[in-house]
Amino acid sequence: NAASTLEFRTMPYAEGEYLMVVRDVTQLKQLEGMRRNFFANVSHELRTPMTVLRGYLEMSEDPEMMVGPMWDKAHGVMTEQLTRMESLVNQLLTLSKIEASAKLELDHIVDVPAMLDVLQKEAQTLSGEHDHTLNFDVDNKLKVYGDDDQLRSAISNLVYNAVKHTPAGAAVNVKWFDTANGPRLEVIDSGEGIAPQHIDRLTERFYRVDKARSRETGGSGLGLAIVKHALGHHESNLEITSKVGEGSMFSFTLPERLRC
Ligand code: ADP
Repeated sequence: NAASTLEFRTMPYAEGEYLMVVRDVTQLKQLEGMRRNFFANVSHELRTPMTVLRGYLEMSEDPEMMVGPMWDKAHGVMTEQLTRMESLVNQLLTLSKIEASAKLELDHIVDVPAMLDVLQKEAQTLSGEHDHTLNFDVDNKLKVYGDDDQLRSAISNLVYNAVKHTPAGAAVNVKWFDTANGPRLEVIDSGEGIAPQHIDRLTERFYRVDKARSRETGGSGLGLAIVKHALGHHESNLEITSKVGEGSMFSFTLPERLRC
């Protein structure tokens, strides 16, 4: 196989004879590459806001800069950059916790309707003056067995993304309902949509279609990786369908046996 990396080692076997050991280290190399990539990404993501913060801190050594509109601007930017760092670190912690968690028992009752009720209010706050129409169509009796924290992380990331990607005044529809295959969540936005070549890669850590835009909206690039892992622990998969210029639907169906 042309894409394989092989490692060769020779060792004495018997008098005048040698043994050659060939090991396929392709996967090991790939893992190593992914690890290196991950750390490079994290460092880069943290270094950018730190550089901005240092710049303003140095500027503040000049007393004239500490008053009036200059200070207002500096204060605003520093707060924004710190928020970005905080959200990245929080998402990193969530992701590492979810990735490291062993097979879940999935025996706790999770009140998804109550969770969605809180989330609707939070989404309204996030929407703020953008004044989105948030339609939540929720089967209030439909609870499931699962992990409260992980399901909340998954659902909130999907809802926040939908709000962040939908233009002001447009609608976000969230549906929680039962199907023959199990309880199902659909988060439908009227955003810019996603071109097909990106869809399969969206759940990779730090993969973003538009880096600048993701940063602007405070995105860490880890949200969908968290969703993927959280759903995996509930024997479910994230489904993404999208039409460029019209919007996207992020959805999942939990297995029937997790219906309460
Ligand atoms: P981020 O913190 O950048 O939002 P995510 O992992 O949540 O990171 O999402 C990865 C990328 O997927 C985003 O940067 C964006 O390009 C794309 N994406 C996520 N949700 C949507 C959506 N609802 N509409 C369009 N693109 C989206």
